[in-house]
Amino acid sequence: MRQPIIISACLAGLRTRYDGRAFPHPHLDHLAAGWTLVPVCPEVLGGLGIPRPQCRFMGGDGVEVLEGRARILDRTGRDRTSHFVRGAEEVNRVVQLVTPRLIVFKEGSPSCGVRRVDIEGTRQPGCGVTVALLRRHGFSILTEEDPVEAYDGTST
Ligand code: SF4
Repeated sequence: MRQPIIISACLAGLRTRYDGRAFPHPHLDHLAAGWTLVPVCPEVLGGLGIPRPQCRFMGGDGVEVLEGRARILDRTGRDRTSHFVRGAEEVNRVVQLVTPRLIVFKEGSPSCGVRRVDIEGTRQPGCGVTVALLRRHGFSILTEEDPVEAYDGTST
């Protein structure tokens, strides 16, 4: 039986990005052949629409958002922090239900970014809100930028 992978919905080809587009994983067919893909979009699960204004961190990354020391604003200046936290909690619920073999998220996103995100308009080291929450629960996360060979033998 194929094991489940939690994957960012946009990487699975779903048009969930802020601009209504997808960002298919470069090895999507390979992943779909070997695993059962479970797509999640934290921002949609958090109540944001498609399309939606692009968002960025103010004052820190996803870790600092969870600690109440940073916020996420959209391009109109509206505070969207609560949507991002709610989306992270919903994804955590899915992860607990599925107990995936692996989690693969879209790099750079304020929800799904693993190694870098936009803070005050500049790309910086840091992680998204959902990644920060899942790490609190002991999960490790890869991105579409990691070589697909790294997925084999990696456990959450
Ligand atoms: S929140 Fe994550 S899954 Fe949703 S569109 Fe952004 S990167 Fe993709």
